[in-house]
Amino acid sequence: MVAPAARKSRQARVVWGDRVVTVGGDAPVRIQSMTNTDTVDVIETAIQVKELAQAGSEMVRITVNTPEAAAAVPYVREQLDRMGENVPLVGDFHYNGHRLLTEFPDCAKALSKYRINPGNVGKGDKKDKQFGQMIEAAMQYDKAVRIGVNWGSLDQELLAELMDENSRRAVPWDGRQVMYEALITSAISSARRAEEMGLNGDQIILSCKVSGVQDLVAVYRGLSARCDYALHLGLTEAGMGTKGTVASAAALSILLQDGIGDTIRVSLTPQPGEARTQEVVVASEILQAMGMRSFVPSVTACPGCGRTTSTTFQELARDIDQHLRSQMPVWRVKYPGVEKMKVAVMGCIVNGPGESKHADIGISLPGNGESPAAPVFIDGEKAMTLRGDRIAQEFHEIVQAYVER
Ligand code: SF4
Repeated sequence: MVAPAARKSRQARVVWGDRVVTVGGDAPVRIQSMTNTDTVDVIETAIQVKELAQAGSEMVRITVNTPEAAAAVPYVREQLDRMGENVPLVGDFHYNGHRLLTEFPDCAKALSKYRINPGNVGKGDKKDKQFGQMIEAAMQYDKAVRIGVNWGSLDQELLAELMDENSRRAVPWDGRQVMYEALITSAISSARRAEEMGLNGDQIILSCKVSGVQDLVAVYRGLSARCDYALHLGLTEAGMGTKGTVASAAALSILLQDGIGDTIRVSLTPQPGEARTQEVVVASEILQAMGMRSFVPSVTACPGCGRTTSTTFQELARDIDQHLRSQMPVWRVKYPGVEKMKVAVMGCIVNGPGESKHADIGISLPGNGESPAAPVFIDGEKAMTLRGDRIAQEFHEIVQAYVER
């Protein structure tokens, strides 16, 4: 699989202790996520950050919305450090970030990156000053920033200016184009302003989030053509379940295929009882499906049809998939490269042997009316045929032996 050529961006460094997460440049596309706990609840927040990090989130954003939350941030960091979790924390600031970063220096130090929303950093004369205070904190403590514009909280003064300008055009743009321009202008002009204040441009990451797939594609194509800052991609408020997953995958894949995007977040609304980590799993699957990164061995399985009247192959595919995923924390360290392994579990001999040959290990379970035999292919060659009631167990053992070898 050939990964698309990436747009050349600057490289930011998001650092905590020995852990350096590079974003942009030649770094792989990074995965990030955000907690939904009240940051004041230090233990709950630290536990969720750790869960997200263990699921594969390489940076975790937490809400910093009140003095109490800002005061809690160093304790969240301390808890994580005690748990041996060094994932960098990103502070999500809106409205009062300038005050919180100035009045709570321990919070400013404990975070590795600040998310600044130029749409609500302040109005009129105060805007520049308050934005400047956040940039000064980033410079003082040597932190990266994400200038994150969102069309739900777009700078209204800028939008009004652009609409006014548009009304004087011979052929005015439509409302959507004006909105795109406002998002892009807000992000880029804020970044340039931060650089003028002295912040190293490499340490600036930009995002312009919207909730429609076509809008996101249009905005990021425009944004990427007009600057070389590292870009954070995400379909904001993507929604729940299948809708949110599919919309995020569609939007992010189009842009990633164009080489646009240095870090991604899938903003899923968890369904009741659904783990917050699901958004990290979806983000990882998008990058893996695109051939850009590998996180877990992939299991290819056919959908099954009238040729398979039992669910044996589906159960085997599910069990193998779960087993491989559960082993990864240990295997990743013990068997480097194991995440690139491909396993095929197929329902009959129609496509089974062919698909198995393309995998590192593949098995075709006997379909309806076929002889009760399951050919196994290893590295493209037929290695054996399994028979009897222990086919699933024996295949598990073969996979295990392959990994160890
Ligand atoms: Fe049906 Fe066999 Fe194709 Fe699976 S491999 S979908 S069982 S024909």
